[in-house]
Amino acid sequence: MTADYPKDPECIFCKIVAGDMPTELVAESENAIAFNDIEPDAPMHVLVIPRGHYERIDDLAKVAPEQVGEIVQLAQKVAEQEADGNYRLIFNNGKSAGQGVFHAHGHVVGGKQLGWYPSQSPSY
Ligand code: 5GP
Ligand code: ZN
Repeated sequence: MTADYPKDPECIFCKIVAGDMPTELVAESENAIAFNDIEPDAPMHVLVIPRGHYERIDDLAKVAPEQVGEIVQLAQKVAEQEADGNYRLIFNNGKSAGQGVFHAHGHVVGGKQLGWYPSQSPSY
């Protein structure tokens, strides 16, 4: 099934999708997976990513918008499973927005009362 997804052999998240890199898998769906962030900034800090390699979530939205919806649903499932069902879902798009891994990913953050520091990523 994964054969048709775009891939980047240098991408660490593609390696996680392929099972070539160890990770703490939290949940998965047909076209997306969720795993714990390696450097959590909150009691719940999970990354939700498409199985396919797209640099940004808006790139995925252009070619497969239904997968963006799937990713949001997976984030909600993670928040119900790992916390109280409440969560913040953050997509950093581009270097100056704080993106460091260029395989689209949403940060599912929660498990505590979150503050609001919109410009100070990552200060949840
Ligand atoms: P960005 O800054 O691109 O929005 O977020 C990238 C996130 O990926 C960071 O929070 C970072 O801790 C996480 N991360 C980077 N490399 C790995 C890895 O190899 N495994 C996991 N689980 N998380 C990673
Ligand atoms: Zn990738």
